[in-house]
Amino acid sequence: MSQPLPDGPASASALVQRLTAVVPDFPKPGIMFRDVTPVFADAEAFSAVCAALAEPFPEFDAVAGIEARGFALAGGIAAQRGVGVLTVRKAGKLPGDVLSEAYALEYGEAAVEIRPGQMPAGSRVLIVDDVLATGGTSEATLTLLERAGYTAVGFSALLELDGLEGRARLEPRLTVHTLGSAPA
Ligand code: AMP
Repeated sequence: MSQPLPDGPASASALVQRLTAVVPDFPKPGIMFRDVTPVFADAEAFSAVCAALAEPFPEFDAVAGIEARGFALAGGIAAQRGVGVLTVRKAGKLPGDVLSEAYALEYGEAAVEIRPGQMPAGSRVLIVDDVLATGGTSEATLTLLERAGYTAVGFSALLELDGLEGRARLEPRLTVHTLGSAPA
């Protein structure tokens, strides 16, 4: 039986903890994958987490979602707050003129990309993703958005993973807000 949904960020955190599935050894051995898609599939939970992710940030002009689960969260927040969405894509997905920012992975390199000029220079952007791990993806996204002329007001995620220093990596540059933490 589903329980009544109290209002506010605390309940959103409880919903994330309750609904997130843990998948051991995915996508490779040793990784505890946090599958947040059940949070997206539950209408009340999705609405509550979108509100809670944006709650500390009174004003922004767009939400930048990091591919792919960040897209869903960005869309939900943007609809609630009446702002637009910027899609931050993995390398090679966008046509035409792109800005690209490379970052290091455990083995090799990845990059995030956006189309420039979609919002006016100086637009205030909230960055969102599902999970903050090492912070490499979100730090590259922050740099990319700044290079595009935007001002990042903060970074929000459903979960941060303990001991990977993602928060420490981002906090010198912007406010970091997550709805909970989990073992890496
Ligand atoms: P990082 O750049 O190390 O902070 O990794 C963050 C990105 O990788 C996010 O886009 C997450 O979706 C994904 N990610 C990293 N670790 C996990 C995990 N244990 N479970 C689910 N997603 C993860």
